[in-house]
Amino acid sequence: MRDENCIFCKIASGEIPSRTLYEDEEFRVILDLNPATRGHALILPKEHYRNLYEIDDSMASKVLPLARRMAVTMTKKLHCDGFNVIQNNNEVAGQTVFHFHVHLIPRYKDDGHSLVMRPCGMTAEALDTVRDEIAGE
Ligand code: 5GP
Ligand code: ZN
Repeated sequence: MRDENCIFCKIASGEIPSRTLYEDEEFRVILDLNPATRGHALILPKEHYRNLYEIDDSMASKVLPLARRMAVTMTKKLHCDGFNVIQNNNEVAGQTVFHFHVHLIPRYKDDGHSLVMRPCGMTAEALDTVRDEIAGE
């Protein structure tokens, strides 16, 4: 299904032009318009899903293999030194466009970014509690 008001639906379908790196029946991979690093790209499914909460297992099972293939190709071609694969869900997590997408972010020595996670500081007891909350009976 397409969402008439969704910019990424229009880009994925080709209605709005984009700098496409790869396309098949189900996906389009484009350059991000406002890149974090040189080569920052987005994997867009052609179907509209709001985010990770909405995609089905079939879509989920195709995204990571595509991300891996793109990362290998882009690393070879751009000579980057590493790679971040990031996917944001809901505003609190930094999602700004509500059409499921995966960020492919080439990393370069001295690119000045710090996408590393900061520890939030939890005690062993707090870790036990959260483990039980997620995985307990
Ligand atoms: P989010 O914050 O939702 O995870 O990521 C949205 C990304 O889409 C941002 O990195 C932003 O730069 C990019 N973006 C927003 N609008 C457009 C657009 O019209 N074209 C392209 N190529 N990228 C866009
Ligand atoms: Zn959409």
